[in-house]
Amino acid sequence: MSVAPLLRKIFLVDLIKGLSVTFRSQHPDELITEQYPLERPWIAERYRGQPRMAVNPDTGESLCNGCGACALACPEKLITVTSDRDPVTKKKYMTSYTYDVSRCMFCGLCQESCPTDCIELSQDYEMALYSREGMTLDRVRLEKGPEPTEYAR
Ligand code: SF4
Ligand code: SF4
Repeated sequence: MSVAPLLRKIFLVDLIKGLSVTFRSQHPDELITEQYPLERPWIAERYRGQPRMAVNPDTGESLCNGCGACALACPEKLITVTSDRDPVTKKKYMTSYTYDVSRCMFCGLCQESCPTDCIELSQDYEMALYSREGMTLDRVRLEKGPEPTEYAR
C-alpha cells in the first residue's frame, strides 16, 4: 500500500469527512422530519389512494349508472356492481356497489374506464385497519369517504 492511503487510514480521514457532513446537517433549520399525524404530509397530485364515488352536487344522486365497466376493467375483480333498468325510462341504474380495498393495487384502471367519472382514487391515504373486515366498502362508505382522526398539539 502506498503512503497516502495508509495515512488516510491512520488518521481516519474518511471517517472524519463523513462525520463532518453528518454534523453539518444537525442544525434545526436543516431538519425535515414531518410531525405526522399532527402535520399531514404533502401528497403528490397524481397519488392514487382511497376510492371515492361522486354524486351529483345538485341532486345528491350517484353519478354511477351501473354499467359495470369498472368491474370489467379491474384486473383483481374486486368490484361488484349490480344494476336494474327503469321500466319507464329504460335507463339502467346501479342498485349496489362494493369495492374490496384490501385487494386493490391502485392501478387506476377502474377510474380510467368509468364513463361518468364517478369512481375516483382520491388522495386519502389513511386506509390501514387492524383486520380485513371493514375493507369492503359499499356505496354509502364510498360516497361518504374516510373520516380521518384530527390530532391537535
Ligand atoms: S385501482 Fe386497479 S385494482 Fe383497484 S379496483 Fe381499480 S382497477 Fe381494480
Ligand atoms: S362506477 Fe363508473 S364504470 Fe363503474 S359501474 Fe358506475 S358508471 Fe360504470
